[in-house]
Amino acid sequence: MSAGTAPARRLVPVAASFTGIDFSAAGKQLGYGHVVHSDNVHDGSVIPVPVAVISSGPGPVALLVAGTHGDEYEGQVLAHELIRELDPARLSGTVIIVPAANSPAVRGAARVSPIDAGNLNRSYPGRADGGPTEQVAALIAGALLPRADFVIDMHSGGSNSTYLPCAFIYRGPDEELWGAKLRTARLLGLPYVMVVAPMLEPGSLSSAGDLAGIPTISTELSGAGTVDRHALEAMRRGMPRLLADLGILQEDTAGPAHAEPQWLELVPESPVTSTAAGLFEPLVDLGQTVRAGQPVARVHFIDELDRAPRPFHARVDGVVAIMRRPTLVAPGTHLLHIAPLLDSPAS
Ligand SMILES: [Zn+2]
Repeated sequence: MSAGTAPARRLVPVAASFTGIDFSAAGKQLGYGHVVHSDNVHDGSVIPVPVAVISSGPGPVALLVAGTHGDEYEGQVLAHELIRELDPARLSGTVIIVPAANSPAVRGAARVSPIDAGNLNRSYPGRADGGPTEQVAALIAGALLPRADFVIDMHSGGSNSTYLPCAFIYRGPDEELWGAKLRTARLLGLPYVMVVAPMLEPGSLSSAGDLAGIPTISTELSGAGTVDRHALEAMRRGMPRLLADLGILQEDTAGPAHAEPQWLELVPESPVTSTAAGLFEPLVDLGQTVRAGQPVARVHFIDELDRAPRPFHARVDGVVAIMRRPTLVAPGTHLLHIAPLLDSPAS
């Protein structure tokens, strides 16, 4: 199942500017990373990126990131909850939590930064002397990622889409890391695992983790710019199970993951893309099984009153895995994605 043979490499942490954080100290530390920017609003001020380090001292290190996209909320809520509830006395290692990674985007309820239009998940490894979003990427890739033995980047569909709640894993980059991703995806216990081609999104935290040789997975936890309480509840059970398996949490109060997840794969034929501007009407539901050629959506024209809506068809057999939310669409808008079923991979 490995997609490549490039040797994984480990990074050395670089000095980065944090207030309130001493990475060599035990206990619960709440601080922030410094992003510096000068414009009409900020005038050279620090834009804080909140960071929590909860540690019992030496041991394995997990890095938990949320708010990579500012309008994806389930992971942010979970991250804040873990910061409050994780007790360093119950750990054997360290949990580093970044609950609002692209903090300007989080504060602006937006996918990308309203300051520089930066998409943090296309900005890795970042630049310490770059724009605000590049600085966030450099903080995480340069100062946090190299300390980690495991990384999870928690996404959701955001304002524009809803996903089936899933662990989201890139194939590869080698047998060992792929095996670790499969194991952690199962432990998380979400109903679905979505497998994607390696390096689907160059510049993502997942690809930065792959390049650094650190097991890194993502999630997609529903979306629509809201908090799905079922997806959040699944993560509340899954994250302690994962931290216990990593040897960081001394006891696992969550119990085993019950069912094998449904495995899906995003393929080039997955997107059903509009060729028209108008009003999107879905003809299927998220999670529904469809066949190639089946009509799955249509787009109604706004101004051509005598024109029938344009139908769109599934290009592949599979499950409706991602659904567009805003009704107004344009040529090029992905209306939905259909993910073929994947045989459960051997661990
Ligand atoms: Zn995202």
